Amino acid sequence: MAKPRVLVLGGNFAGLGSAQEIRRFCGEAVDITVLDRKNYLLFVPNIPAEVFEGRDPSKSLRMDIPGALDADRIEFVQGEVKAIDVEARRVDYVPSERAGAAPESMTYDYLVVALGNRLAFDRMEGFAEHGHSLTDLHYGNKLRRFLANDYKGGPVVIGSARFHQGDGAKGLQPWPGGSIPDAMAACEGPPVETMLSMATWLKTHGMGAPSKITVTTPAEMIAEDAGDKVVGQLLGIAGGMGFNYLNNTKDITRLSKDGIEFANGKSLPAELMIVFPDWRAHDFLRGLPISDSEGFVITDLLMRNPKYPNVFAAGDCAAVTVPKLGAIGHQQCTIVARQIAKDVGRMDAASADQKLQPVVYCIGDMGDNQAFYIRSNSWYGGPEQVLRMGHVHYLLKMQYKNLFFRNKGKMPDWGLDFSQLLGERLQPAA
Ligand SMILES: Cc1cc2nc3c(=O)[nH]c(=O)nc-3n(C[C@H](O)[C@H](O)[C@H](O)COP(=O)(O)OP(=O)(O)OC[C@H]3O[C@@H](n4cnc5c(N)ncnc54)[C@H](O)[C@@H]3O)c2cc1C
Repeated sequence: MAKPRVLVLGGNFAGLGSAQEIRRFCGEAVDITVLDRKNYLLFVPNIPAEVFEGRDPSKSLRMDIPGALDADRIEFVQGEVKAIDVEARRVDYVPSERAGAAPESMTYDYLVVALGNRLAFDRMEGFAEHGHSLTDLHYGNKLRRFLANDYKGGPVVIGSARFHQGDGAKGLQPWPGGSIPDAMAACEGPPVETMLSMATWLKTHGMGAPSKITVTTPAEMIAEDAGDKVVGQLLGIAGGMGFNYLNNTKDITRLSKDGIEFANGKSLPAELMIVFPDWRAHDFLRGLPISDSEGFVITDLLMRNPKYPNVFAAGDCAAVTVPKLGAIGHQQCTIVARQIAKDVGRMDAASADQKLQPVVYCIGDMGDNQAFYIRSNSWYGGPEQVLRMGHVHYLLKMQYKNLFFRNKGKMPDWGLDFSQLLGERLQPAA
């Protein structure tokens, strides 16, 4: 009898992680295929650190996907997903290695959607001409070249556009009395990291102090997912260093040669604008019976779609992933794999049915071999909010990437506990 076929869409953090965990928990009971439009994993979180150190991130932040999957006997197909038919259990795609390929289809028994999001720079007026970002190799290198060749030392603005969250996680309760909250920004670790790294860059290049930098947020409070206590501490430190802060911008409406304009009517002069856009669902996910009002894939806290129980989601494309953080996607990969293992008779329900309790883990580079570390679940109703800063956390960030590449994406089970021990016990709060 043919084995059930698991099709994983996307091969970056959530796709690769899900595929590897499915093999781990299901053994040879399933066939697994990963489909991605590119054949390398992009290690997004370290782009800022590379760029502010003046290094080309494309040289160190790509990992071969087929090579990583090979050890687990997982097939890789390079193609661009065009449509998903959950009734027919079919995915339509176009092979993406060379232009002009003819469309093909693949069927599945289990589908794991791990396709990330569309980062909607194309909806931000003036971005192409005047904006910068750090979300991929192209924008990272564009900013690196601008800093090296063109930046004259003028005002810097760093901030996020408004995130349009769907209704797909309403009513979920990760902790008693808690919820998956509504976020005004998709992920504000990157702007906080960028503001601190930029200040170090200004200092080391003799171009000024943090007072040159304004950090903005569409929300009442920046990085609200970290918890009010942590944000209060962060803002206190940043204010003491001289950073400027503008909240409640509502959205970014336009970038021009003179500066940046916001939906609340305010504007700021700027020579350098480093911005993070709206994380939008892929167009082909919108309107599907598995998707919410904005196209994010609806799941319960076991990452399973309630209407189509053979469909799962993990990572940024899942409606429950708020904010859009790789660390939350990482937690979801194991949950997806345990559920499929249960379905194919490789795990009992008590071991499999461990629901998502999201934890915001964020280690952000600050330049000068320093980093901040946040571990918090308070936004979802959990009890914890931890902030640390120091050299140990910088080492943790860099070593995590090295370990990830060396192990081809497989992080040891003790990895997070070890990071927590190092990050919190060996360097207690100041
Ligand atoms: C500057 C920056 C710093 C960050 N720092 C951190 C951090 O410190 N810690 C943290 O936890 N998170 C961080 N994040 C967030 C983190 O990068 C994302 O949460 C993570 O990449 C999401 O993983 P994913 O696999 O769900 O999606 P993605 O990484 O976006 O991967 C989606 C995959 O799907 C593929 N794909 C997309 N569309 C198609 C299609 N139509 N057909 C086929 N394939 C397709 C893509 O090629 C890609 O490989 C950071 C983000 C940014 C921008």
